[in-house]
Amino acid sequence: MYGYRIDQWGAEPTWQPLPDPVVGPGEVLIDVEACGVGLTVLNCINGDLSNDPARLPRVPGHELVGRVIDGGPGTDTLVGRRVVAYFYLTCGACAMCTAGRDSLCERLGGWVGVHTDGGYAPRVVIPAHNAIPVPDDLDPLSATVVPDAVATPLHVSARAGIGPDDRVAVLGAGGGVGIHMVQVGLSTGAAVAGLDIVEAKLTQIERLGATAVDSNDLTNLDASTLFADGRPSVVVDLLGSVEATRWGLDSLEPGGRMVALTTFRDRLVQIESREFVFGEISMIGSRYATRAEVAEAGRLVAAGDITPVIGVVRGPGDVLEIHEELRSGTVVGRGALDWSKT
Ligand SMILES: [Zn+2]
Repeated sequence: MYGYRIDQWGAEPTWQPLPDPVVGPGEVLIDVEACGVGLTVLNCINGDLSNDPARLPRVPGHELVGRVIDGGPGTDTLVGRRVVAYFYLTCGACAMCTAGRDSLCERLGGWVGVHTDGGYAPRVVIPAHNAIPVPDDLDPLSATVVPDAVATPLHVSARAGIGPDDRVAVLGAGGGVGIHMVQVGLSTGAAVAGLDIVEAKLTQIERLGATAVDSNDLTNLDASTLFADGRPSVVVDLLGSVEATRWGLDSLEPGGRMVALTTFRDRLVQIESREFVFGEISMIGSRYATRAEVAEAGRLVAAGDITPVIGVVRGPGDVLEIHEELRSGTVVGRGALDWSKT
């Protein structure tokens, strides 16, 4: 088979002949139908999660969707099912895993697409534990938003306790996670303002029923103008810049919650203890999603409660074009690699 493989962290994957993957105990072989492409896969390729040369060569692509065609002993119930991949290689046995807090696994073995191969090849083997079934009538392309772009906002919503009384401001609302965060927020009954700097993304935010806000001049953006009845009670920060974090903390209403999702290094924001005290502000970290949230994301997308927003779809020969478009910041929502386009 042919697929994309990384031979050096930080270099683009190249299209090359690959050995057929062999399924072992506790694993499943997947016929890959599609794979989501977003900024995180670029981070993986860049070596941001691990740049260990011993992990090379590696097929990237953690947001894979496909049908299980074979499995080791004990995986019978998965064979024949359409599944999406859970991104984290969790142990399944530690206190956090047992409590259903999978993304906090104490014995994390790495990530799909970094420590084990992903969906940039037509066939892949992953641990059976990482194969999460989705409703069979959910088409593969739509399912690419399930394992990260929709599941991650569900986790944010749970972490921050977002509900009908909330006013939620989303920073970076036009990207893959952002555009689905807007929808998850709206689905709880909250009022949502989506902030972005690209016209086409603002149009899409508006179309989904949220207030679209041009944030090109974020520092001077007055948060009291976003909603008719008050300042944001929740700010979801998908940008992670010093400017964005500072804006969020300054913009919350008393008792507000700031949710951080990015993992950049060296972006220090000064805050005094008294700021938290006087405003009773909460700063909440939200790390990926649980396995249950990935399954729930599949049900929500299949039921039409969340609309997949996939701004660019390319066949296997053209995946590097998606990378370029993502880097230029023009992709509305997620990108997707469609293996049926071969
Ligand atoms: Zn664990």
